[in-house]
Amino acid sequence: MTETSTIDSARRTGELLPRLSRIVGTGHVLTGGDLTRSYESDWTGRWSGRCLAVVRPANTAEVAAVVAECGDHRVALVPQGGNTGLVGGSTPDGSGSQIVLSLTRLNGIGAVERESGQIPVGAGVSLTALQQAARAAGYDAGLDLGARDTATVGGLAACDAGGLKAVRYGTARARIVGVEAVLADGSTVSRMAGLLKDNAGYNLPALLIGSEGTLAVITEVLWKLVPRLDARATALIAIDSVQQAAQIAGPLMASLPSLEVLELMTETGIRVTLDYLDQAPPMAVTPAWVLVQCAARTDPQDELIEALDGIGVAGQAIVAVDAAGTERLMRIREGHPEAVNHGGVSTKLDVGVPLRALGRFLEALPTVVERAAPGARLVAYGHLGDGNVHVNVLGPDPDDTTVDESVLELVAGCGGTISAEHGVGRHKAAYLALIRSAADRAAMRAVKHALDPDEILNPGTVLA
Ligand SMILES: Cc1cc2nc3c(=O)[nH]c(=O)nc-3n(C[C@H](O)[C@H](O)[C@H](O)COP(=O)(O)OP(=O)(O)OC[C@H]3O[C@@H](n4cnc5c(N)ncnc54)[C@H](O)[C@@H]3O)c2cc1C
Repeated sequence: MTETSTIDSARRTGELLPRLSRIVGTGHVLTGGDLTRSYESDWTGRWSGRCLAVVRPANTAEVAAVVAECGDHRVALVPQGGNTGLVGGSTPDGSGSQIVLSLTRLNGIGAVERESGQIPVGAGVSLTALQQAARAAGYDAGLDLGARDTATVGGLAACDAGGLKAVRYGTARARIVGVEAVLADGSTVSRMAGLLKDNAGYNLPALLIGSEGTLAVITEVLWKLVPRLDARATALIAIDSVQQAAQIAGPLMASLPSLEVLELMTETGIRVTLDYLDQAPPMAVTPAWVLVQCAARTDPQDELIEALDGIGVAGQAIVAVDAAGTERLMRIREGHPEAVNHGGVSTKLDVGVPLRALGRFLEALPTVVERAAPGARLVAYGHLGDGNVHVNVLGPDPDDTTVDESVLELVAGCGGTISAEHGVGRHKAAYLALIRSAADRAAMRAVKHALDPDEILNPGTVLA
């Protein structure tokens, strides 16, 4: 870049913030460390950067105007919801030149449409707020995860979040039947009619769900609710090996129509979490625990016990007898991410393998990690029914990529994916070639180029 164009670009950037203030109001353009810090680093402390400003629009028209203005100035935007993403996609890089576009003020929740069981929700609505609105109307959101109080609907859509109930209701993609979004040129696309069948051309909402803020800014979604089920039965099963844990997933899913949660915990994680929660183990700590929860209109406990009996594990299981007992068992699984975070900044991977390869993957994982980082502490847990394992390694410098490379190669060898639900972000962009062919990556780049030729939206995320 020549000296003149550098000065020109600085002058133009200097003009940008006053223009953005005119769009969203001065109070919603935040600059200076104290105001911007919490937007610049993530929940894990692994990802942090520096931004030019945080801009907080209040509605779709303001988002569109901000995106258009930043496009004119060639200033990149990092869309951000609750900033609970774990892959470095929601925080700015270290250049100090990017704008964090915070969507949390888009927090309107519409009424449930009775004919369809659908509800329009702003991108900034938290998952908890959506769940409360659903329950108040006699429904359930059909999606749940530990970061529910902070994660936003826009973030859930942008990451195609999974979570605890995906084994029954699918990921965010299965729940979202309409999307409104602002494209990189500032134009708005809207598919909010709530049609379950609509084959008129390319399915833009399907493309934008899971695009991690790289193709558009999602401003509103139409969420398809599921029936509210108030009767629950919960069991914790002690298993002698991780391979056996993998083997019971299929039979449990086949024999339990009311199954809603099917989670895996392994020995080190169980001990670390119980310690962190200061909780006594509710049963003997074995190489693996499997947490099963059923939900139905009437008490599903008999069905659950019959299924455990049918696969020969009833003798190794405890069943929660009341709400407090259920809460205690769920808390052990949900406490895992916090317990790991408490232990320091970890290498965090969120991988998925086909269920037929899950036992092989779990058996090989400790050896692969030990070889990559001798003496490191491996905490593996996850969503058993989805073949989704959260691999956390405490000990090595998180910037050392040896563990990432070794584990992701193992995943690729098992026919799996480098990201099951957290997304690719900046963290895993360099590893995409492990599981996506050259043709596949070229197609993704072509889509990115067509929708965002100037790389305004979240550059460096998904595609390196
Ligand atoms: C304790 C804990 C437990 C978790 N458990 C799970 C789990 O079980 N399952 C799971 O899937 N995830 C889980 N997560 C990860 C995280 O909560 C999800 O990925 C969630 O969907 C992120 O939502 P957010 O609003 O915080 O998004 P952010 O973190 O703000 O952003 C995430 C990505 O989405 C993009 N984005 C955000 N909003 C928009 C928008 N409106 N338009 C376009 N792009 C946008 C960002 O640019 C970024 O790339 C967990 C996280 C924590 C901290």
